[in-house]
Amino acid sequence: MSLQELNTSLHNCQRCKLATMGRTQVVFGTGNPNASIMFVGEAPGSNEDQKGEPFVGAAGKILDKLLESAGLSRSQVYIANVIKCRPPNNRDPEPDEVETCKPFLLQQIAEIKPALVCTLGNWATQTILEKKVPITKVKGQAIQLDRFVVFPLLHPAAALHQGNLLGTLKEDFNKLKAYLDRQQAPTPVPPSSPPSAILPPPSQMDLFGA
Ligand code: URA
Repeated sequence: MSLQELNTSLHNCQRCKLATMGRTQVVFGTGNPNASIMFVGEAPGSNEDQKGEPFVGAAGKILDKLLESAGLSRSQVYIANVIKCRPPNNRDPEPDEVETCKPFLLQQIAEIKPALVCTLGNWATQTILEKKVPITKVKGQAIQLDRFVVFPLLHPAAALHQGNLLGTLKEDFNKLKAYLDRQQAPTPVPPSSPPSAILPPPSQMDLFGA
């Protein structure tokens, strides 16, 4: 199923109780369907529920600034949430809601095939890592999974509640930028390698018509 077909199949989703708890619409996700970097938040808030797009409220404004600081724009990345419908009064998602919606997030990842999935906050991080690990233990580092690398980050809304966390978020987005810069840098060739071992990395081999 393509990303668009998956999106269409979830319009008016009735699979969990959030369908009847005041949501306006399903907030599927937005951005570049061929992105190599995906951001995953928790659940839509009231602005997202109204607009049908993730991270368009106050937390979204912070996210936009942080993306910019890492040299990224919304049009380059894809942004989605673990839960596609707004929980009433912005309460935390409940386990049955996560279980019901998680397969759709995994299908989005399978379709988009990002190299890097940046999880924002505890919910996204624990859902993707399938581990009840506190975000504070794993944030700001790259964790290799089978099909992609996970880079957990604090949720931007944390800075709305605790202003001092904005500094921590900025530091961690700097770490993300450093990670992305390292990925783009050509692999250095060890000086002692014999000439036959000197092959350009695959991304450069294309330039040689290989
Ligand atoms: N918080 C989230 O986790 N996701 C959104 O889309 C908005 C706020």
